[in-house]
Amino acid sequence: MTDFATAMQRWTVGAATITSVVEDQVDIPTGFLFPEATEADVLRHPWLVPDWADETGTVQLRTQAFVVQIDGLTVLVDPCVGNGKVRWIPAWNDLDMPFLERLADAGCTPPDVELVLHTHLHADHVGWDTHKRGDDWVPTFTGARHLYTEAELDFARTSGLAGEDVYGDSIAPIFDAGLGEVVMPDADLGHGMRLEFTPGHTPGHTSLWIESDGEVALITGDFMHHPLQFAEPQIAEIADADAELARHTRARMLREMARTGALVLGTHFPSRPAGRVKVDGNAWRFYPE
Ligand SMILES: [Zn+2]
Ligand SMILES: [Zn+2]
Repeated sequence: MTDFATAMQRWTVGAATITSVVEDQVDIPTGFLFPEATEADVLRHPWLVPDWADETGTVQLRTQAFVVQIDGLTVLVDPCVGNGKVRWIPAWNDLDMPFLERLADAGCTPPDVELVLHTHLHADHVGWDTHKRGDDWVPTFTGARHLYTEAELDFARTSGLAGEDVYGDSIAPIFDAGLGEVVMPDADLGHGMRLEFTPGHTPGHTSLWIESDGEVALITGDFMHHPLQFAEPQIAEIADADAELARHTRARMLREMARTGALVLGTHFPSRPAGRVKVDGNAWRFYPE
């Protein structure tokens, strides 16, 4: 476990700022996250140690949201697992994390949030949208528009794991409260923000481009999970719904990240989640900032 909770990480993109708000960061056996990979695959790329993996080749994975302040707007992207949710993955079940306190430390309280974006609707990207009041799940960001794509809503309704109800506890209450809105997966959101359709991990997955004063950033979501995938882009993640399409998307986006020179923020990247992508032999390398 790192000291992630004490050090705030914030980046500037032109006149915009992007702040990481961490829910948790854990060590994870490489072969659990990436069934086709081993610790030896990690150690073939010494630049991954120590920022994103340890000297045994075990990778770390972070759950974090990003707060984007741009053009006078406060935007929250992918609000993590949430507290008290019944979840199939033990590390996500019935959490009790000081996420909202860390959000406040980042200068943002729930009433400040005007827009909530979801790259996709897996349990670790929608959790803080609701919290428990009595027996009910109620919206946390009551003044915010929450954006979704139709394909993700369909997938979330039909792909739930036994024993958990992500749609029921974290999505339906937002629409019931009139705070939900469906957008196209390549929607121009204005204020320098644009979605890009990046399917594969899930059918309606999107990523977020942010542009301010000529500078560009990209919040990946889960078309990548870890910097190992810069060096080994073919490696699929365990939850990729369509691994072949995810590979295709990753290859396309890697070229885009390098071409644009964007500041790339990896939604699950641990410790040093932001950096730039450059060609490295037949693959790519991530240079943290
Ligand atoms: Zn996911
Ligand atoms: Zn995820």
